[in-house]
Amino acid sequence: MQKLARVRSVAAWSGCSITSRCQSTVANPALRNDEHPVKYEGPDYNTTKVIRKENLSPAMSTYYSEPLLIHQGKMQWLWDHSGKKYLDMFGGIVTVSVGHCHPKVNQALHKQIDKLWHTTNIYMHPTVHEYAAKLADKMPGNLKNVYFVNSGSEANDLAMYMARLYTGNHDILSFRNAYHGMSPYTMGLTAHSTWKFNVPTGMGIHHVMNPDVYRGLWGHQGCRDCPVVPKGVQVCAESEGDCATAVDNYMDQFEEVVRYSLPKGKSVAGFFAESIQGVGGSVQYPKGYLKKAFARTRELGGVCISDEVQTGFGRTGEHFWGFQGHGVIPDIVTMAKGIGNGFPLAAVVTTPEIAATMGQALHFNTFGGNPMAGAVGISVLDVMDEEKTMENSKVVGTYLLEKLVTLVDKYEIVGDVRGKGLMIGIEMVEDKASKKPLNGVDMMKIWDQTKDSGVLIGKGGHFGQVFRMKPPMCINKQDADFTVQVLEEAIHAVNKTR
Ligand code: PMP
Repeated sequence: MQKLARVRSVAAWSGCSITSRCQSTVANPALRNDEHPVKYEGPDYNTTKVIRKENLSPAMSTYYSEPLLIHQGKMQWLWDHSGKKYLDMFGGIVTVSVGHCHPKVNQALHKQIDKLWHTTNIYMHPTVHEYAAKLADKMPGNLKNVYFVNSGSEANDLAMYMARLYTGNHDILSFRNAYHGMSPYTMGLTAHSTWKFNVPTGMGIHHVMNPDVYRGLWGHQGCRDCPVVPKGVQVCAESEGDCATAVDNYMDQFEEVVRYSLPKGKSVAGFFAESIQGVGGSVQYPKGYLKKAFARTRELGGVCISDEVQTGFGRTGEHFWGFQGHGVIPDIVTMAKGIGNGFPLAAVVTTPEIAATMGQALHFNTFGGNPMAGAVGISVLDVMDEEKTMENSKVVGTYLLEKLVTLVDKYEIVGDVRGKGLMIGIEMVEDKASKKPLNGVDMMKIWDQTKDSGVLIGKGGHFGQVFRMKPPMCINKQDADFTVQVLEEAIHAVNKTR
């Protein structure tokens, strides 16, 4: 009876019938304390599904067995067409950084919309200049020249050009299991068959072995820069013990590619790396690896490119940029997603020396640095400073990781919990010994149940075996508690049937 009463209370806030989708026995008080959502006025659910099938790309997949129709957002909350409220633990794929419809960002955009939408850069307008200076101020070293574009793929395309023009070399290295975009150029950098078509891409791009200390050949969970480890795992310091061995062995593999795949004279244009792999499933490298890989790339005449599309803007908690956690400074940094809190905005930042070679031809981008994007970008940076979102990522992210890691000890199907700040992965397996990825049916059961219980999380990894949590950086500890309770309940339901 007591349990039924609790289920009823969840049903009340979520607006769904007790017999339908609500399965959770846990409730987040914030979800119950509901403001009234805006009335949904779009096409009805089934019509929307038909339009999607008939008029949108058939290759565009949706999450969950029954796709969500979302029409309103506020900070860490989303509402669907039926008025059901969700805690958004994925931020529109790591993009909503400071919160859905953050009032300060909205206000800045409204103000700009009423003044000026668009000029292109054939004229000067104040916003892009103010923003470039502000963003450059967030960069370490000599990373001072900012190029504004509209998406992460565009940013990585441009970074490839820069690397090739500056070095005069052609070959580029990236990791297997990396995701750097889906433009014809970046599809070559991306190393996931899931995201590749059967067309020629990737001329001169070579993929080095992914230094994944959980699923890879060397290292273990104690070798990476993560504030938690499962029980019994020994943490090793950078350059010591298993961590040093893992770095050396993975660097030997890097060298194999240099030896066999690069042209005589062994030259590269550049090496691309995410600080923590995003789409690949929040994969972290052994401590010290990136330092060595960057040093070797520079010996080979190449530049080092950090893809901070997911890890930038304080998401990893300790630093504003993920690469700072590896003790390196890249030559080129690409950023998107969190930079605009959902507005189409991206950037490449590099040194004046590298930027100078981009002067060989005119470089033009119609929308890059558009006044509206600039206004949004400035206010996002302001909010990050004022609301200390990076610090919140560290505090709440570490709290969440500490709770999640206990699931590894409790459930056979939870293989690994990793990440930093609010960039978290939970790798699901058939069993801990084999590390065989958990089958798709069970993954979907868990995923659907978390959604039905009011929490939206992401999924990634080459086999779709990793749950990902990368929420707006305004979530609090109560949201973290609720998330873990909901996820645990869903995992428990699947684990107990085995
Ligand atoms: N780099 C990384 C690390 C990404 O995660 C993504 C997008 N998932 C991209 C680049 C490409 O960004 P976009 O989809 O904006 O082109």
